[in-house]
Amino acid sequence: MDRRRFMRTSALGVSAVASSPVSLAGPLQTRRWPIIMSTWDHGVAANTVGFDLLKKGRSALDAVEKGVMEVESDPKVRTVGIGGYPDREGKVTLDACIMKADGACGAVAFLQDIKNPIAVARKVMEETPHIMLVGQGAKQFALQNGFKEEELLTRAAKKDYQEWLKTSDYKPLINIENHDTISTLAIDEKGVMAGACTTSGAAWKMHGRVGDSPIIGAGLFIDGEVGGACATGLGEEVIRTAGSAMVVEAMRYGKTPQEACETIVNRMIKKQQNLQGFQVGFMAMDKNGQTGAYSVQKGFTYALKSDTVEELAEARYLIKK
Ligand code: ASP
Repeated sequence: MDRRRFMRTSALGVSAVASSPVSLAGPLQTRRWPIIMSTWDHGVAANTVGFDLLKKGRSALDAVEKGVMEVESDPKVRTVGIGGYPDREGKVTLDACIMKADGACGAVAFLQDIKNPIAVARKVMEETPHIMLVGQGAKQFALQNGFKEEELLTRAAKKDYQEWLKTSDYKPLINIENHDTISTLAIDEKGVMAGACTTSGAAWKMHGRVGDSPIIGAGLFIDGEVGGACATGLGEEVIRTAGSAMVVEAMRYGKTPQEACETIVNRMIKKQQNLQGFQVGFMAMDKNGQTGAYSVQKGFTYALKSDTVEELAEARYLIKK
């Protein structure tokens, strides 16, 4: 079976989960709002916070922002926010973006010393005439807006960095063990969608490198008329294919979220000579709350939560060894 599904009821702390089998974005499946879906295992924590807000009638925008902030603020997560792996100069640099169904969006990239880049991205969206602020300018904007300057390189991440320095070997291998951007898509009680995407990027990347995660259309794209999509994995490849925008576009022209993710993964790998260590995963949700996920390699997990479903699942994937 290429897709394991874990009904981790005890880990998730729920007493009941879906009574009927949950197929990924099967065409017959209709989910009701509110619904929230997040990448990787730590998506469970984001969903818990976000879904609670959705049930209180808060917007999808609040749910995705506060959901991913939970993960950004967890120093044990090595791929997002505080505790994230640094670049090859030992600096933790963060990328994030947020988008609403009406096309409003905001982003920050190469942001340092601020734990919650997603909240800064939201401020960029709401308080400036721009979409993206980067580096020192983004930090200055954050500080002016009351964000606190903090050391983001934890002792544990620093230890791993010092270990890495011994070889300084750079292999952008991205999988569940070492690398996981958190992206969240949600639809609120009113049927409005929003999405958020935040990361510390590829571990040991070049100083100044920015991946797909803060780039609207690459790491995340939402169009209220259609739905939303987000990406994780090798950011350079996601940017090259305008990944998330293309998944949404495929849905616009009739593909289910699952088919749309598969279409764009297939398109992406056509130009690849070497698929070793090449991992990209897409996750999508249409405006009705149907979902899909697909990755190049095995190992991409995502978490889903609604009134009837709570699960951590492994996405279908392309390369069977
Ligand atoms: N897409 C992210 C980046 O390239 C990494 C990841 O999703 O794991 O920065």
